[in-house]
Amino acid sequence: MIWRNRISRFSSRAELDLNLTRKPDPVPVTITKQAFTAQLESCSSHPDQLKQLHAVILTTGISVKNSLLTRLITSFIALGETSYARKVFDEMHKPRVFLWNTMIKAYVKDGDFIEAAAVYRRMHRLGVRPDEFTYTFVVKACAQLLPWAGLAVAAHAVKYGLEFVAEVRTEMVVMCVRNRELGLARFLFGSMVERDLVAWNAFVAACVQSGHAAEALDLFRRMRVAGVKLDAVTIVSAFSACGQLGCLETGEEIYGIMRQCGIGCNVIVANARLDMYVKCGSVDMAEALFEDMSRRNVISWSTMVLGYAMNGESRKALDMFSRMQERGVAPNHVTYLGVLSACSHAGLVNEGRAYFKRMVQSGDKNIQPKIEHYACMVDLLGRSGHLEEAYNFIRSMPIEPDSGVWGALLGACAVHQNVELGQHVADVLFELDPANGSYHVLMSNMYAAAGRWDCVDKVRLKMRKRGAKKVAAYSSVEFNGKIHIFFGGNRFRPESSKIYEKLEDLLRQVKNIGYTPNTNSVFHDVGTEEKEATLSHHSEKLAIAFSLLSLQPECSIRVVKNLRICDDCHSFCKFVSKATKREIIMRDKIRFHHFRNGECSCNNFW
Ligand code: ZN
Ligand code: ZN
Repeated sequence: MIWRNRISRFSSRAELDLNLTRKPDPVPVTITKQAFTAQLESCSSHPDQLKQLHAVILTTGISVKNSLLTRLITSFIALGETSYARKVFDEMHKPRVFLWNTMIKAYVKDGDFIEAAAVYRRMHRLGVRPDEFTYTFVVKACAQLLPWAGLAVAAHAVKYGLEFVAEVRTEMVVMCVRNRELGLARFLFGSMVERDLVAWNAFVAACVQSGHAAEALDLFRRMRVAGVKLDAVTIVSAFSACGQLGCLETGEEIYGIMRQCGIGCNVIVANARLDMYVKCGSVDMAEALFEDMSRRNVISWSTMVLGYAMNGESRKALDMFSRMQERGVAPNHVTYLGVLSACSHAGLVNEGRAYFKRMVQSGDKNIQPKIEHYACMVDLLGRSGHLEEAYNFIRSMPIEPDSGVWGALLGACAVHQNVELGQHVADVLFELDPANGSYHVLMSNMYAAAGRWDCVDKVRLKMRKRGAKKVAAYSSVEFNGKIHIFFGGNRFRPESSKIYEKLEDLLRQVKNIGYTPNTNSVFHDVGTEEKEATLSHHSEKLAIAFSLLSLQPECSIRVVKNLRICDDCHSFCKFVSKATKREIIMRDKIRFHHFRNGECSCNNFW
C-alpha cells in the first residue's frame, strides 16, 4: 500500500477517523511531498484534523521529511496549538535552526517564557548553531524570567558575533531600560550600527512603560531630528508619555505631527489620545474626541469611565457605564475599576457595594474582582467612614490582601483620625512593606494630629532603624514644551527668588480673603511659625507661583503632584483660584482636583 492511495481516501474527517483504527503498516513508507501538502492544506485550519494527520504518521510509522513536518508545526502554531506543535517538534530528527527559532518565538508570543528558555537551553546543549533570529526572542524571554537573565543569554549572542544584529540589540536595550539601567541602555542604543524604526519605537516604548516618560519624549524629538519616519506605534508611545507627565501642550503638538505625517487615526491611536486627554485633566477634549470616534472598543469606553471618575465627574462616569452597556459593549475589569473609583470619589457607598456584588456574582471571569478592585472598595468604605466594615471586608477577602489594600485602610484611618485602628493597620503594613516610608509618615502624622508626640518619635525611630525611605514630594508643570519640576523648599532654580517673592505675595493675597494655614499636616513638634514656613514652601505652591509668573493670564494652571495633596495646599489652591480668577487643575497620586472660583471638584472628599 502506498501513501498516495491512502491519503487520497482521507477526504473527510470521518474517513480519517476510520483509517486511524487500521493496524499500522509494518513497513515504513515515504509520503510524497505533494500528497502530504495537499492533505495539510485541506485541513490546515482545523486543529483536530491536523492532529489526526499527525496520528496517522505516528501509528503507521511512515517516514515524513522534516520539511513537511515543519509545515505541520507551523500550522499548529498558527492555530494557537503550541503544545501540540512541540510534540511534533520533539519527535523530529535534527530540526533546523529555523524550527528551533519558530518554537522559541511561539512560546514567547504565548507568554510562556519558561518553555521558550527551555527550548533554547536544549538547542544550546545539542550544539545547534544559533542565527541572528534566535536571540531576538531568547533575550526577551529570559529578561522576562529574571531581571538580568537576558544579559547572560546576550553574552552567547556576543560569542556567536550576533550582538550587533538590530533586533537582538533592540531587545537588549529594552531589557536594560526595564532594569532601570538607563546608562547601559543608552550606550547599547547609541552604539547600534543600524537603528531602524522598530529599534526607535522599542526604546521609546520601553522608557514610557518603565516610567521614564520625559526621556521618551526627548527620544521622540531626537527621532524627528534624525529624520526617522514615524508610525502609529511611535505616536501611541508619545501620547502615553504625555499622559504620564500631564503634558497637554506637547500632546497637542504630537497630534499635529501625527496629522502632518499622514498617520491614520485608527482606534488604537485614538484611544491613546483619549487616554492622554483624561490624564491631563482635559475632560472636555476627551469628550469631544470620544463623540467624534467612528470606531470605539471596550478600551475607549473604559478610558472615559475611568477618566470621568479620576476627574471627579462620578455621575458622568456611571452614565457612561450605562450607555456602554446599552450599546452592547461588555465591560471588563478596567471598566469596573472606573465604576468603583467613581463611587469611591463621590462617596456613593450603596452603589459601590451593589457594583462590587454584581462583579462577584456575574460568574464572568473577565470581571472577577482583582486586588485593585478590593483596594478600591476598602478606599470607598473607609473614606466614607465605614472603617469597621472596611476592616471586615479585608478579613473576608478570598485573596491575600497586599499593601495597597491595607494602605487604603490606613489612609481612611488618617482621614477619620482613628488612631487605634490605624495603629493595628500600620503594624500589618510595617511587616508587609518595611522599607516603605510613606506608611510610617502617615502614622506619625496621625499621632502628631492627636498630639501624641512620644508615639511620633517612636515611629520615626522605627523608620530610621528599618532604613525605610520617604518618597520626596515634588510637583511639575509644563511650560514652553518643557517640564519644570519643583521640590518643597528648593531654591536651586535660577528664577527661585522671583518664585518665592510671588509666593509671599500670593500668601498675603489669600490670607486677606480668609485663608489660614492648616498646620495639622506638619508633624514636627515645632512652633506654629516654623510649621507655617514649612507649609508655605510645599512643592505645589512653588509650582503655582511659577505658573502665575510664566503663563498667559487666560491659561489654566496644570500641576502634577507625585503624592497626595495635603489639606493646607488644597485650601490654598481654592483661595488662589478665587483671588486670581484662574482655574487650577491639580493631578495628585490618586485623582484630579479642579479648583475654580474658590471651590474644588472633589467637594473636599479625597
Ligand atoms: Zn501641601
Ligand atoms: Zn479637591
